[in-house]
Amino acid sequence: MKVLKFGGSSLADAHQFAKVKSIVDADDSRRVVIVSAPGKRFRDDHKITDLLYLCAAHIKYGVSCADIFAMIRERYEEIIHECSLKLDLSTEFDELWEKMQGGISKDELASRGEYFSAKLMAEFLGYEFLDAALWVKFKFDGSIDQDASYEALRRAADGRKVVIPGFYGVMPDGHIKTFSRGGSDITGALAAAALDADVYENWTDVSGILMADPRIVDSPAPIERVTYNELRELSYIGAQVLHEGTIFPVREKNIPLNIRNTNAPDHPGTMILENIDDELEEGSFITGIAGKKGFSVITVAKTGMSSEPGTILKILEILAKHEVNVEYIPSGIDIVSLVVSSEKVSKRLYEILGELQKEVQPNKISVTEHIAIVAAVGRKMAYRVGVSGKIFAKLGENGVNIRMITQGPEELNIIVGVEEKDFEQAIRVLYNSFVREHVC
Ligand code: ASP
Repeated sequence: MKVLKFGGSSLADAHQFAKVKSIVDADDSRRVVIVSAPGKRFRDDHKITDLLYLCAAHIKYGVSCADIFAMIRERYEEIIHECSLKLDLSTEFDELWEKMQGGISKDELASRGEYFSAKLMAEFLGYEFLDAALWVKFKFDGSIDQDASYEALRRAADGRKVVIPGFYGVMPDGHIKTFSRGGSDITGALAAAALDADVYENWTDVSGILMADPRIVDSPAPIERVTYNELRELSYIGAQVLHEGTIFPVREKNIPLNIRNTNAPDHPGTMILENIDDELEEGSFITGIAGKKGFSVITVAKTGMSSEPGTILKILEILAKHEVNVEYIPSGIDIVSLVVSSEKVSKRLYEILGELQKEVQPNKISVTEHIAIVAAVGRKMAYRVGVSGKIFAKLGENGVNIRMITQGPEELNIIVGVEEKDFEQAIRVLYNSFVREHVC
């Protein structure tokens, strides 16, 4: 059994609805479908969710949102008409408008985008509509009550073919609550986990996760297969992949997550799995490349530091006290560097340096700013000899000055710190040398 989630661009109009139907119809195991609200049809178009939030803002300031509401209504009516659906939403829309006059919560109003979208899609597919409010249960602290939600969905879905609106659930007092933006991904993951799906298919408008940022690298290839651990490394360092809460429910149940493209349904997309047994396979040792700008490196040198217990602890305690998270700690004998976010450290820098001076009494402290981190991530790196040497050599040959090097203990990644001005060049060198030209 497969659980599918379709994002806003897959539901933007009747044409996209038809694509969804042919995808669902092509495979009888595609039984549970989660939908977002209709997204943009063209570049300057509006997402339904954005329009609903705009209505909420108008209501808050006592300004009429009748025109915006009419636009929303029209979008759905157009799809109903063009898909030849029998559904008549006029009563529900009139009731919603009434409720908006009397005061509706922002979350409830925003949730109607997916609610109506699911109603339409259910009729179009010939599936039953199943409201997320019946099973996605939040606790008062805003987290999901997993056991109660899973149990409720198992009872409600019970082998039926259903369409479920994404993005929202209910609080214990019955009020509607939405996830943060993009949260339909989470609804899909929760449904897949609750129903022990064989796969969670996340249908979007790209053919999977790309191996590098397309704004930096020209037409990067999509990743075919990636482990959950690799994905975590890539998204931590800047790759924009899925809504952050998405992975957890499916990973916990060992359910593969397949990212697919509604506009290219024959492309296999990216498959995300717990384990991939291809250590000795040929091919690039890099699964993906990601990176981020905006780091500072604080370097502390002190003679005898290596043989003096507790020095690093003292340094970390000072940073923790100032709520600065340390990203990486490359070290040498009697010298340690701390890679931290420039934004986080900038306001407290002098205080931190003063405390380090006082508590650690180092021979030298230096701060290097404008550092970018670039990570080459790949589960196969651990099984290849000389990978890091090749990476550093290529970067050097291409004029990228490496300011820092670190490798995770599981050899899942090699991380280099470079000057911000070299950031894009470093990513392009890695991609062109080790992926495009396939130097193994
Ligand atoms: N419609 C919501 C949003 O635009 C949720 C989603 O699409 O996942 O954020």
